[in-house]
Amino acid sequence: MGARICTFDCLYCEAGATEALTTARKPYVPADRLLAELAVWKAAGHAAPEAVTLGGLGEPCLNTECEAILRGAKALFPAVPAAVLTNSSLLPDPDVREALFAADIVLPSMDTLVEAEFSRLNRPHPDMRLAAIRQGLLDFRAGYAGRMFLEILLVAGVNDTEENLALLRDFCRELAPDRVDVTTMSRPGAYPGVRAVSPAVRARFRRRSTPCPVPPSTPAMAPPPF
Ligand code: SF4
Repeated sequence: MGARICTFDCLYCEAGATEALTTARKPYVPADRLLAELAVWKAAGHAAPEAVTLGGLGEPCLNTECEAILRGAKALFPAVPAAVLTNSSLLPDPDVREALFAADIVLPSMDTLVEAEFSRLNRPHPDMRLAAIRQGLLDFRAGYAGRMFLEILLVAGVNDTEENLALLRDFCRELAPDRVDVTTMSRPGAYPGVRAVSPAVRARFRRRSTPCPVPPSTPAMAPPPF
């Protein structure tokens, strides 16, 4: 994707403001073209990468060829994990969930479960529904055999609230990702006046949203005292 094409227009986006706010899935970057570039790169004799990650200037799941890209990357680099960064917004779509099953690692984001914060922070396309995205992530997790690293990005005065922390804590327990990464802004965002949270706030969210995985054969335990 040359332009910034996304389902969100996040305050904090380091790629800049979204140019095309859309939910329309299309072959924005054809798999053949991208895989040909990757093959040229491999033929140049570079050391194998640690991972091949689909990300970029927008939402990669908007690309209808993302599954073909993942499978092609794995064919080119069989020993290298194929990963996808996603804002999770298209996971309510079964076709998108199916496409992402081809990834070894999925890094979805969920910054807030408070509706007003979601609107203010992620500035989603009007067709987006937070409850559906939440459920889409859970549905994806239920059928996914790979690793999931959930990302929560905090912006000061927007989604660093107790209400969000409580909702994310419960959600992370239900989702049980392999890892939760709580981050904040490290570079200027797309819009002025957007600030990082303090290390203390970040640490508090990290501590309280990290799930305590329960092995399937182990009886459910009482939740830790928050
Ligand atoms: S979802 Fe990602 S690419 Fe899209 S606007 Fe937000 S930060 Fe930028």
